[in-house]
Amino acid sequence: MIGPGKAIGVLGGGQLGRMLAQAAQSLGYRVHVYEPSGACPAGAVADRLTSAPYDDIAALEAFARSVDVATFEFENIPAGPLRAVEAIVPLRPGAGVLHVCQNRSREKAWLRANGFPHARYAEALEGDIEEAARELGLPCVVKTADFGYDGKGQMKVESGADLARAAAIFRGRRCVVEQWVAFDREISAICARTASGETRVFPAAENIHANHILDLSIVPARIAPAVEAEARRLAVRAAGALGVVGLLAVEMFLGADGNLTVNELAPRPHNSGHWSIDGALTSQFEQHVRAICGLPLGPEGARNPTVMANILGDAWPLRDGRVAGEPDWASILGEPAAKLHLYGKPAPRPGRKMGHFTVQGPDVEAALALARSLKAGL
Ligand code: AMP
Repeated sequence: MIGPGKAIGVLGGGQLGRMLAQAAQSLGYRVHVYEPSGACPAGAVADRLTSAPYDDIAALEAFARSVDVATFEFENIPAGPLRAVEAIVPLRPGAGVLHVCQNRSREKAWLRANGFPHARYAEALEGDIEEAARELGLPCVVKTADFGYDGKGQMKVESGADLARAAAIFRGRRCVVEQWVAFDREISAICARTASGETRVFPAAENIHANHILDLSIVPARIAPAVEAEARRLAVRAAGALGVVGLLAVEMFLGADGNLTVNELAPRPHNSGHWSIDGALTSQFEQHVRAICGLPLGPEGARNPTVMANILGDAWPLRDGRVAGEPDWASILGEPAAKLHLYGKPAPRPGRKMGHFTVQGPDVEAALALARSLKAGL
């Protein structure tokens, strides 16, 4: 066990790292954040910050020597240099897990090899997108294999004209072309797993996206109990098969036929788990700390039906293209059922995740209605 008082290293300095650091500090850990860009949401709360590139082996080694366990909050860290960290200190989850999950092509191949339901897909190297799309049929979606998140690096293709555009946009890049899944709902299940193989899964969240970015997470998800059980089972099986120590978030599509299709794996705290800070008996961030440090896992159940709403930079008022004022925080702060979380990012930009709020209610529909009205009132 890596007990309270020890130091946790976090690679990546975004809001996930910030909330992770806060949870770790609440348990008495010291937190050392490693983030190339310097000033960052996690660095602002960390006990120590290293600003160096992700491929600076000397800096990574010094970072690794300063902590008792390391983890990452960001998937687009090159997995290769992380081996240098892993050689010095436990990295949880390991670089091998990151290597699979950070690349859509490797991730799909892993899902296929391990028998997880996934959308039909084809890998497309330069110029092969049209052929892949013909094979899969339209509509389909083209995604870059590397460095994709929040809908970045992906394009839905519905027509021949779209296809020609996609071929031009993605020329020279390794891509995955996926069949479009006509889903009823999107859900995610987050599993915590310890080095000894103990697992706990949070209740599944129902996720609603806007412009490919998560907008709302709803817990409990409005799905049949059998689907919920299957979603949790898939998350536990994926965490075990990957050998994750820490959290694994599994994003899934639920079809009209009741079948689940795994879309993505994220071996870290996940935006669709933010509801758990206020709404669960243990937050996903605390659970990640418990899992990577070998502490007993906490109870994962929900306190109340909870809805989480993301707050993007779009919520800031603009005048002549410039930020002119703040969202109306008082509307959320004045609502007893709501909790506001801001990430301390200085520059609100459209599409940038600036914070979130949660609403708890007697039932999901009441919480959802209040969350929607608070969001509209911002
Ligand atoms: P991703 O970056 O893979 O998580 O995709 C972002 C969002 O795009 C997903 O949450 C879905 O809303 C949508 N999406 C991605 N892939 C597909 C697909 N194969 N079929 C339908 N929707 C998709």
